[in-house]
Amino acid sequence: SGPLDREAAMHTQAPHSADLSNLWMPFTANRRFKAHPRMLAAARGMYYTAADGHQVLDGTSGLWCVNAGHGRQPIIDAISRQAAHLDYAPSFQIGHEDSFLAASEVAALMPDGLDRVFFTNSGSESVDTALKIALAYHRARGEGQRTRLIGRERGYHGVGFGGISVGGIAPNRKAFSAVLLPGVDHLPHTHDLARNAFSRGQPAWGGEPFADALESLVALHDASTIAAVIVEPLAGSTGVLVPPRGYLERLRAITQKHGILLIFDEVITGFGRLGAATGSAFFGVTPDLITLAKGISNAAVPAGAVAVSRGVHDAILDAGAGGIEFFHGYTYSAHPLATAAIRATLGVYRDEDLFARARALSAPFEEAAHALKGRRHVIDIRNLGLVAGIELAPREGAPGARAAEAFGKCFDRGVLVRYTGDTLAISPPLIIGEDEIGRIFETLADVLATVD
Ligand code: PLP
Repeated sequence: SGPLDREAAMHTQAPHSADLSNLWMPFTANRRFKAHPRMLAAARGMYYTAADGHQVLDGTSGLWCVNAGHGRQPIIDAISRQAAHLDYAPSFQIGHEDSFLAASEVAALMPDGLDRVFFTNSGSESVDTALKIALAYHRARGEGQRTRLIGRERGYHGVGFGGISVGGIAPNRKAFSAVLLPGVDHLPHTHDLARNAFSRGQPAWGGEPFADALESLVALHDASTIAAVIVEPLAGSTGVLVPPRGYLERLRAITQKHGILLIFDEVITGFGRLGAATGSAFFGVTPDLITLAKGISNAAVPAGAVAVSRGVHDAILDAGAGGIEFFHGYTYSAHPLATAAIRATLGVYRDEDLFARARALSAPFEEAAHALKGRRHVIDIRNLGLVAGIELAPREGAPGARAAEAFGKCFDRGVLVRYTGDTLAISPPLIIGEDEIGRIFETLADVLATVD
């Protein structure tokens, strides 16, 4: 047994001795959690060890981020070496070699032409960075009036003011609605339960009509005022909404026609989730910018990036007149621990051919997910690559309660799933085996039978 196992054993003897009152937990019903805390103590491979000692199969890659599984030795070693070797280096006006190597290695995984890389520390920062690049690009080309940003209903783009403005989740916006970015509009979301329920992979209906809503927004606002459209190729956080066939292709055609930049938020779809390096590669649609985070570092160190087309990058640099071209950056952009984690993570993906593994597993994963059809409460099942959403009929007067109950019961039975509204989301590490895929969905089937 390794050090992690020993650490886990230690934790099992004393679940926790912490005072829970000081920590204000993010996106959590704090009072409810603190009354019945569920705590994780250690992680290795496909499993968490809960604080009470029971093993929990990680059906969600943490928060869609630990794509190579937990506690991977090459990543641990790279971070440890780097911490001892170069703990921190600024990236403003000075560089460190690993940051350039990491950028080249990320660029090599991006679609052709998107090979300029700006480092951030999170998905939210990547989104705000991409929106600012879009505005700077148009201004650099003498089209500074192109300031309008278009997101999508049910889009999740993190929690910066830019991200919640283009995002389409009402509760994330409500308390701050007076100060959201001006000049933002939204496309309709692409979820159509009546026509597309229980689609396997990409739904057949809706690609053109949903994408053509962009033509209506262009007609309304005029193309000359619109800077960029941002969408998740597959919307993860709002319940696994798979793009209908033809939708992304058409968004690309319309944005191109009108000189509007297209941003794919690939914080979830990047790094193998769909069985390819990016959603862009999976769908065969190349945007102008791609936002990345999560799987870029296997979540071992917070990290994110924006991959930018040469055209967009060069336009901004050309306008720079020899000075700083883009007044933007973070103290921790290209933090040495992050670039070390990124390089080691990409090495694991490559050495273990994990994107191909995800692609090969997507068929048995789809079978296992759709085997839940006909189970109590299940009104839709959606899947693509190694991600699935199981939508439950809401309990009368208590939307979300069924999925929350199923989540708790799965955890107690040793399987971690995620819930958002009444949808359960499954997105396991790409190292998962077929037996473990079976266990996730069989546990869900058992649990659903016990949910009112
Ligand atoms: N964009 C997408 C598509 C996401 O799924 C997320 C997080 O789930 C974010 C942005 C925000 O990332 P972070 O929480 O790292 O800021």
